[in-house]
Amino acid sequence: MPASRKDPSPARPNPWDVARQQLDEVAALMSLDPNIHRFLREPKRALSVAVPVKMDAGELRVFVGHRVQHSVARGPSKGGIRFHPDVTLDEVKALAMWMTWKCAVVNIPYGGAKGGIACNPDEMSAAEIERMTRRYASEILPIIGPEVDIPAPDVGTGPREMAWIMDTYSMNKGYPVLGVVTGKPVNIGGSLGRNEATARGVVFAILRAADRLRLPVAGKTVVIQGFGNAGSFAAKFLAEQGARVIAVSDSRGGIHDGKGLDPEEVRKHKAETGSVVGFKGADRVTNEELLEVPCDLLVPAALEGAITERNAAKVKCRILAEAANGPTTPEADKILEENGVFVIPDILANAGGVTVSYFEWVQGLQSFFWTEDEVNARLRAVMERAFDAVYARKEERKCSMRHAAYMVGVGRVAEATRTRGVYP
Ligand code: NAD
Repeated sequence: MPASRKDPSPARPNPWDVARQQLDEVAALMSLDPNIHRFLREPKRALSVAVPVKMDAGELRVFVGHRVQHSVARGPSKGGIRFHPDVTLDEVKALAMWMTWKCAVVNIPYGGAKGGIACNPDEMSAAEIERMTRRYASEILPIIGPEVDIPAPDVGTGPREMAWIMDTYSMNKGYPVLGVVTGKPVNIGGSLGRNEATARGVVFAILRAADRLRLPVAGKTVVIQGFGNAGSFAAKFLAEQGARVIAVSDSRGGIHDGKGLDPEEVRKHKAETGSVVGFKGADRVTNEELLEVPCDLLVPAALEGAITERNAAKVKCRILAEAANGPTTPEADKILEENGVFVIPDILANAGGVTVSYFEWVQGLQSFFWTEDEVNARLRAVMERAFDAVYARKEERKCSMRHAAYMVGVGRVAEATRTRGVYP
């Protein structure tokens, strides 16, 4: 097994420590059975693999990949695959644990998993990425499958990579297996609405929160960190609701325009130049500064550890909707709560992605496909039901939205674990 662990930089907390701390906090709050708590603190299975790739220039490079399955108590495990230079086994373990709670919060019959390769796809050709994706898929093939563990896109991957994984898996089986991954292109069994689903779910959750807080979204200011799949569609849908998107960023930096940015024009600029930076008429801001821009709605949609105890006090928003996984550390959470920020936690806010992935899996297994309106209406119903369950728990327990979401999610997984018992 190749070594994978990089020392986490001091600026970026170790996500696995954060994930466990969040579980420990809520276990204490809900008096979770210590035996179940111990069970849930460890991932069920973690596989690390070497991924040798012939680069275009003739050199052979060996990347390190992982697939972690945290829990299968409520169904097969499910979770995205990340291609990013900072991928570590600890990060993948954290993301897998968060997937378990997320699937339980929206009450879909899955456990949590995650995968990733430490690589920089921005510096690789499409052919190199294809060879890497197919080799990684072959290496994790023994532990994935429609009834076992179903990958999906995450940072640095999208429908193209899902198509390659589906093809690699199907070639090995000898017949097409639609249900092995979700987030596929629509022409090979993808679901209508999947590409936009994470952001659409974030916006459904924001609208529900805005309703509860009597803070109509129309006319409100929005700041978004990360302008990829989740962030760019969130900008588009919030603008459609009448909100004013005043700042966005990507890994190269951010842009700010108090009069409001046109998300579609920013998307075109990024498609042409590779970044939001340099967008005409907007001021340049750093990613640090972006998080401190006063606004009504702040949407972190990049990576973990964006809001820590160092900058939480400088965050000036009314609602923080976590499109990204793990953007806020537990220490930052306390500061945000003291400052009256209403946090819609990741395991609720960004659950629209896995929800429509579930719809895609169901459609693939049945070979019976829905219209986009059907997908979006069912997504809205799931998000609103989940938001209401979490909000009710928050009111009942007088706790934060994060603790309430964890109590709902961990509670359901604990119950399933107890009902099934421990084998043998
Ligand atoms: P993506 O690769 O499409 O986009 C990521 C964006 O973040 C890019 O614009 C990138 O430039 C930017 N970025 C990277 N590092 C940054 C930094 N340090 N500061 C600012 N911006 C930075 O990925 P995505 O699928 O949109 O995922 C974004 C987040 O949403 C991740 O945390 C992911 O786990 C989460 N998420 C995604 C989905 C999904 O369906 N895609 C579902 C649930 C959660």
